[in-house]
Amino acid sequence: QAPSALRQAAAGQLSRLVAAGVRGADPAQWYALTELSDTGPIVPPGERVRLSPSQVESFARCGLRWLLESAAGAGQTDVLRHLGTVIHAAAVLISDGAAERAVAQRIDDIWHHLDFGSAWYGSRQRELAERMVRKFLAWHEANPRDLLATEQALRVRVGQVEITGRVDRLERDAQGRGVIVDLKTGGTAPRDEDLDRHPQLGVYQLAVLLGAFEELGITEPGGAELVQVGKAGFTARARVQRQRPLSDDPAPGWAKDLVDAVAAGMAGPVFRARVNAGCRTCPVASCCPVHPDGAQLSP
Ligand code: SF4
Repeated sequence: QAPSALRQAAAGQLSRLVAAGVRGADPAQWYALTELSDTGPIVPPGERVRLSPSQVESFARCGLRWLLESAAGAGQTDVLRHLGTVIHAAAVLISDGAAERAVAQRIDDIWHHLDFGSAWYGSRQRELAERMVRKFLAWHEANPRDLLATEQALRVRVGQVEITGRVDRLERDAQGRGVIVDLKTGGTAPRDEDLDRHPQLGVYQLAVLLGAFEELGITEPGGAELVQVGKAGFTARARVQRQRPLSDDPAPGWAKDLVDAVAAGMAGPVFRARVNAGCRTCPVASCCPVHPDGAQLSP
């Protein structure tokens, strides 16, 4: 809609940039003007789809973000990953019986190998790590269930879908049922009223039901929990968010239905952008047509 002279001048400048080899200057490289290279599904019909419980959750939240994070490698910053990895490793040490002092010493040993961008930020994160470890330790000591395994791998099949992953803790309750515990170190938590349909916890319970931990004598799920030790916990104590056992749910097949739906969606070819509470901090917003930063990608 700009005057013709202005458009001509702009086109002239673009053509100079193209001639100088500037990346992205050639309209042939503009996303909104390029043709789809392939309209078929990513996974051909009948082929096995592999997914993990956490992927089911991220796909259910937003298909486009899942695609760009898992297939194109966009995602969490190293800083967040470092902290989460350290806290999970500390939790394993505590579960193996290590004392708080020994755990702190171990964290100190590895801390200077991690890059937090600045010494100031690194020491803030170290204080945060110490608080999280204390919260976890208090929760662990008060937990009445038997701990069967930490960082336990799982692999089960249901139809054409293979579910693989690792649980932070597998525990046995007083009725001999398996309870999966997922340790969370982030700053956001699901709403309590959404927990009974929390995808990741539901898929863990489904995996128990499908025999993922049979060799440990666990065949029936007794619920699953998120243990929030990060800022999402709000208080000085770990915040526990519990999902009831699948058998107590009025629709006990919901987790299996969700896995089927997500597996079909992950096969492509369409990945829908779904506005949700995580859009505010989404690392791929600049590639998302429903977000102002990425709106230019819409044809
Ligand atoms: S901004 Fe929101 S809708 Fe867009 S990709 Fe990210 S999470 Fe999905």
